[in-house]
Amino acid sequence: MLNEVQSPGAADHAEDHAPGEHVRVAIVGSGFSGLAMGAALRDAGIEDFAILERADDLGGTWRDNTYPGCACDVPSLLYSYSFAQNPGWSRSFSPQPEIWAYLREFAERRGLVARIRFGHEVLRSAWDEDESRWRVETAGGTLTADVLVSATGGLSEPSVPALAGLESFTGPTFHSARWDHDHDLAGERVAVIGTGASAIQFVPQIQPRAAQVHLFQRTAPWVVPRRDRALSDLEHRLYARVPWLQSAMRGAIFWGRETFALGLMHPRIMRAQQRLVIGHLHRQVPDPALRAKLTPDYVMGCKRILVSDDYYPSLRRDNVEVVTDGIAEVRPRSILTTDGTEREVDAIIFGTGFQVTEMPAARRIVGRDGRSLGEVWDGSARAYKGSAVAGFPNLFLLTGPNTGSGHNSIVFFIESQVRYVMGALRAMDERGAGVVEVRPEAQAAYNREIDARMPGTVWSAGGCRSWYLDRTGRNSTLWPGFSYPFRRRTRRFDPERYTLRARRPAVAREAVGA
Ligand code: NAP
Repeated sequence: MLNEVQSPGAADHAEDHAPGEHVRVAIVGSGFSGLAMGAALRDAGIEDFAILERADDLGGTWRDNTYPGCACDVPSLLYSYSFAQNPGWSRSFSPQPEIWAYLREFAERRGLVARIRFGHEVLRSAWDEDESRWRVETAGGTLTADVLVSATGGLSEPSVPALAGLESFTGPTFHSARWDHDHDLAGERVAVIGTGASAIQFVPQIQPRAAQVHLFQRTAPWVVPRRDRALSDLEHRLYARVPWLQSAMRGAIFWGRETFALGLMHPRIMRAQQRLVIGHLHRQVPDPALRAKLTPDYVMGCKRILVSDDYYPSLRRDNVEVVTDGIAEVRPRSILTTDGTEREVDAIIFGTGFQVTEMPAARRIVGRDGRSLGEVWDGSARAYKGSAVAGFPNLFLLTGPNTGSGHNSIVFFIESQVRYVMGALRAMDERGAGVVEVRPEAQAAYNREIDARMPGTVWSAGGCRSWYLDRTGRNSTLWPGFSYPFRRRTRRFDPERYTLRARRPAVAREAVGA
């Protein structure tokens, strides 16, 4: 049961649109951001929308990541909608099935499920200048939309490295975000590649079942204590009866985490905190040789800071080997490392992350001049307030460029952006505008400001190479600094930074044969 804030009657009916129809708003994706957008539209009385979802269920990353041990590393009181709090979280860091169930319950209660077109992977969306609308081709049919909201998430396309000889491997291989639950790892020799946020969660889970785990580590992560705990019955009852208390706790967690931004912006502060964190490694890994392998050689926060209490202990087990030599080649039943060692393995699991800065989805959105977002960005994404891109009228991005957070909850950014997009829709209504497009100079100035704040941060000066940086070396993923200024800056839609104009008149469209 969620404690929700919503407009009366918003959940009471649902409408569906047959493929080929026109909708006012098409939302792509039904994860945290797509569902928040749908709920906001309904709250505003806008019923003319559809949510396009490629899979056969909703939930985005929380549907796709089902690997053993998958849980959120941001506390659940914060990693949830502020307007639909769940007093029943079982733990401070809730496991994936619970977060997925939360999203499903939210979608049900808000009457969003009937709005989702499952199996509608978007193949291409192109702006039709004559009609002033988006033409969206999906695996389930084509529709047109006045406004397109891309809510596809940054962590949706798995990245699997092109290792030499990988195709020759005869055993099973799978990525953490596409876990093969039909394959039993019991008694097997398992190679795990990668030591990021996902791997540190599933390695302790598979270690007791596998005969041997070879963990291929390219860069040692910084790992801080998790201190997860079960929430008590008393907490559940209090949160259910006194929702403001849960909001207050949420606020306390938010502001507590905001302080981490100081270290991210000023590596000197982070270095001081590192000394405390290294104690966690010393306490959990007494063996100096293993500890040396696990000691990061860059400033904490340069890559995502990981939280775990069971990762290091699992690496101390006899059946786990941390391999720090690079992978030279994969052979039919083994992996050869650059030092010439060959390890026989039965299965390979990739915990190698996602295609964040080169999202395939960006190649499928084609703007006014016929070029895709991917082409325009050319490996380095830029938007205005992470939400709008010049040359792409009536397109809004959720979790767009520079809206990620190294220290706080992405849901905070999502809610900020949804509010901003709703402001844009209102401005269009108020001004009778059918088309809204950010001014290129506003976008350029905004990105100059963001870029100017990056040098000297831990991501630029921390001595590592992370997925936060794109192929040009620019940090195009994270919001630099405290999170609350992003909320302040997106609180109000700023029409002066946009061109708002009427749709081309129907007569004119007919005259040109449209
Ligand atoms: P990730 O953090 O990008 O980690 C990928 C790992 O694979 C890194 O250790 C990387 O090494 C390694 N790797 C990549 N290519 C490699 C190659 N060719 N050879 C050897 N190693 C290679 O991916 P992830 O663990 O899936 O996490 C991605 C993001 O998802 C996280 O940062 C986080 O934002 C999110 N996430 C969140 C949670 C949560 O609890 N909320 C849980 C899981 C994931 P290098 O470090 O050397 O690049």
